Amino acid sequence: MPRKTDPARTRNYSMVLREIFAGPGRSRKEIADSIGISAASVTSIASNLLGGSLIVESAPVASGQGRPRVPLAIDADSQLVMGIHLGPRVTGIVLTGLDGIAKASVLVPHSGLDASTSFDLVIEQAQQLIADHAKGRRVLGTGVATGGIVDRVNGRIVENLGAGWREVPAVQMLAGLPQPLILDNNARAAAQSELFYGHGAREQDFLLMVITSDLGAVMVSNGKIRAGWSQHAGNISHLKVSDDGFICECGRRGCLQVMATDEATVRRAHEAGRMDVANYGDIDRLYEAGDEQIRALVADRDAFVAKAAATLFDLLDPGLLVIAGTPAERPETLTHVKSVVSEWAYQGATAGSRVVYSSEHELSLSIFAASIMVNEVLADPLSFLTAASELSADM
Ligand SMILES: [Zn+2]
Repeated sequence: MPRKTDPARTRNYSMVLREIFAGPGRSRKEIADSIGISAASVTSIASNLLGGSLIVESAPVASGQGRPRVPLAIDADSQLVMGIHLGPRVTGIVLTGLDGIAKASVLVPHSGLDASTSFDLVIEQAQQLIADHAKGRRVLGTGVATGGIVDRVNGRIVENLGAGWREVPAVQMLAGLPQPLILDNNARAAAQSELFYGHGAREQDFLLMVITSDLGAVMVSNGKIRAGWSQHAGNISHLKVSDDGFICECGRRGCLQVMATDEATVRRAHEAGRMDVANYGDIDRLYEAGDEQIRALVADRDAFVAKAAATLFDLLDPGLLVIAGTPAERPETLTHVKSVVSEWAYQGATAGSRVVYSSEHELSLSIFAASIMVNEVLADPLSFLTAASELSADM
């Protein structure tokens, strides 16, 4: 008979798995001491996590007079997690292990297609990716992230300006992907990823800005992501960063949305007479080739981002301000961003010194999305153990 889910049991499983995830290489005894539950409980929980292929143990290490300690770590290879970043024009799909490292990925272009047609293409490509790379391994679920305003609780994209999506029931439309499926805003996904693998592992108080085709920001306080009372927190699209910029759809001039997205940079290139730029890929290519005019346009974009960052610094006083997305793909530009933040923030150079670029770059947005799913597994490992009713007693 299936055991009724006991909240205390769920919590203990989650604590043990999170502890192993955050500090691999420790023994059952060390984990028990760290979280304050009995060594016997940790031993039986670890045995079920091992049986469910969520953790692995490595060779015993001699430890003084006592029994050799057996180091535990997350099982990064037996099971997979899918991460999808629904972009306005191109969607990235990745399969990772529970360690967040990509095993296979694909990009799905869907420029000019409506949400329904785009999502069908995404499902088809995701299924193909699994067929080609999962090698029989189970996909534990799918984390999906997108820009704009996302209602995670009801699985809806409320508004994604870049893609022109409004009130899209994405979770329902993506039912053909590995379940469970969690939809969230890409800034919150990026913050989750930073908490697991990046700057958030050492500083639990930070503000993260995502700058790509979409913009977003999220505040993480004491390791907790704040989504806002109505899940609308982090909309930085209409922060004013220029007095004489383009007119925004909100009716004002010089908003971050019209000055600092990838598309805004392309538009500014056109404005400067650069008709050889068709998309952001061209900006990247010309930048690499040392084109001075393009480099200046990119530096201006970074300065717009930095001005917005300075405003956020004064408002929220985060321990770190992490910039993820396109600017972070060029680590050499960080010095310029720091100097503009120092110039514009009331806190001055102490603010500038706390600006960092995200640690993840390539295909980062889909890996961020996968981390949403990894967090689900860490939050409730029991629900991901097959045949949970046959687990050995552990309470
Ligand atoms: Zn605006």
